[in-house]
Amino acid sequence: MREHLLHLLFPHVCLLCRKLLLPGEEHCCSACRAQFDPFGSPQAAEELLRSTIVSHFGESFPFERGWCRYQFHRKSPLQQVLHSMKYEGLFTLGKSFGRQLGEWMVSEGGVDDIECIVPVPLHPLKKIERSYNQSEKIAEGIAQSLRKPLRRELLARKRYTVSQTGLSAQERKKNIEGAFQVAKGVAGRHLLLVDDVITTGATLAAAASALRQAGVKKISLAAVALAIKE
Ligand SMILES: [Zn+2]
Repeated sequence: MREHLLHLLFPHVCLLCRKLLLPGEEHCCSACRAQFDPFGSPQAAEELLRSTIVSHFGESFPFERGWCRYQFHRKSPLQQVLHSMKYEGLFTLGKSFGRQLGEWMVSEGGVDDIECIVPVPLHPLKKIERSYNQSEKIAEGIAQSLRKPLRRELLARKRYTVSQTGLSAQERKKNIEGAFQVAKGVAGRHLLLVDDVITTGATLAAAASALRQAGVKKISLAAVALAIKE
């Protein structure tokens, strides 16, 4: 807690090692960022995402493209940083991760067809609990890099769900099924659905299923990190 307070008071200090940041560095110094374990290519991330979903649910759900920037390991520096983003109100960090992910997507290509960016929503009560939705901040950053509109109003949570942490893949799927509501006017579009970390893909699968039922034509996925089985 002390270091996060320090970071809020002195934002030019690395969140992890507390060294002074150099110009151009945001939140974490390059040495700490180097420990984050990025995917070598979008294709490698997409392949692992598809096989993660299949390994948990026995089948994939149709999506166009899937982008994840980092491999998420338990107890890693990345987990520490993402935890601060989610629970300690470091919302500018989410936007920064989103911007970087977006720049990577643009430089690797294949994003032209995407029409708008939609964050995975939190239930309004959970949003009050946490004060903000971290996926929305990441989506804001991506929208900025891709120069595409952010459309947070297209998807809402109609049901309060318990945290997915500690649940098995099947329990996660059951917990989240039918939790989303889609606004009118999405039929025929190509949306980019954004989450912070993908563990089994249950949340994205449920959100994607609601969007498809509402007539969305294509769904692509983006997350800062994809959990690696250890
Ligand atoms: Zn550092």
